[in-house]
Amino acid sequence: MVNQKTIERLSKMGSKDYFITSMYLQLDKNNNHKIALKDMIKDRRQGLNKIKQEKKLAREQVLSLENDFSKIEHFVHHDFLHNDHHKGLAIFSCSANNFWELLELPQAVTNHLNADYDPYIRTLSELICEHRSYGIVLVDSAKAKILDVTLGFVKEYLSIHNDVLPKIKYGGIEGTQERNINRAHEEMVQKHFNDVAAQTEKLIEEEDMTRLIIGGRQNIISQFESTLTSSTRKKIVGHIVVEPEAPLNDILKKSQEVAQAAEKKYETELIDKLKGEANTVGGKGIFGLQPTLQSLRRGGVNTLIVAKSYKAPGFVCHKCFFIGVPEEKGPKDTCPICSGKAHNLDDVIEEAITFAFMQGCKVENTSDNSRLKIMGNIGALLRY
Ligand SMILES: [Zn+2]
Repeated sequence: MVNQKTIERLSKMGSKDYFITSMYLQLDKNNNHKIALKDMIKDRRQGLNKIKQEKKLAREQVLSLENDFSKIEHFVHHDFLHNDHHKGLAIFSCSANNFWELLELPQAVTNHLNADYDPYIRTLSELICEHRSYGIVLVDSAKAKILDVTLGFVKEYLSIHNDVLPKIKYGGIEGTQERNINRAHEEMVQKHFNDVAAQTEKLIEEEDMTRLIIGGRQNIISQFESTLTSSTRKKIVGHIVVEPEAPLNDILKKSQEVAQAAEKKYETELIDKLKGEANTVGGKGIFGLQPTLQSLRRGGVNTLIVAKSYKAPGFVCHKCFFIGVPEEKGPKDTCPICSGKAHNLDDVIEEAITFAFMQGCKVENTSDNSRLKIMGNIGALLRY
């Protein structure tokens, strides 16, 4: 499933010699996506002649692109089996380098086909912010269920049922035997909680999960949470008080509400933090396109924050990887650093996002455009 690590890996697949073809396709039960792909490829093939001249592509480069188009078309038409869980498809291909990556997505995406030196990853970056992954831990005194919600798709990660002696009521005058049984019960419950906590931490580690929702009866929730490590506890964004046998759909609906509220809060706090840091002398925050690109070039960005769908023109130098706004260009469309050719970009933001992932930065695509808009639609929290 797609997460930060997937995108980081893809961002590093850029090649200096050959283009990578990136394709996003919205899947359709009636196979309309096959027609949509055919049209996109037809369109791109027609545009290939123009690109050949504009970018002065060598024969091998053109051949690699043509092979990408044919492979993608063949795959979608003949080999791809569409199941109902997947609403979108992403393919990245560079035939000359034998690179092929297929991602099936549980969310719909806007159809897109392009070829460039870097894979087009902005769609994936926006998707993981829009449908942030979280884990749900449903726990009672002997059973537990851990659910993994990635890109809005719910998967059962684990179901646990430990043997726990039932608790009994005290009888007799002394009740010693009952007290012993109940002590054994408490110990077994604690062991069960430890087991669930260990599995929860495993999920967080494996899936790079940043959010957790805990569900169950109120008294159980508090008891269970005390067994979690403090770093895991910090990931808890909310609780759902439910009976252990509640229908799964009810649990998911409640969890979704908790996750949405958490997302809203997170975004508000993120913009507050950016604003606070950027407006403090010596603060670790910056906003506006040019200062943000400058920080990215210096490797100083920790978190890149960008308004969803924001685009701005700019340029990139493929020789020294300088990215900048048009005003930073050297004379006669050259790179201000190495005097190499400055390649104009309709959207420098896409390049900035790729650059950020390559450096292992976090990228936050916000939908809270109005507040970020005032700050130039883009900013960054800095490392130093
Ligand atoms: Zn350069």
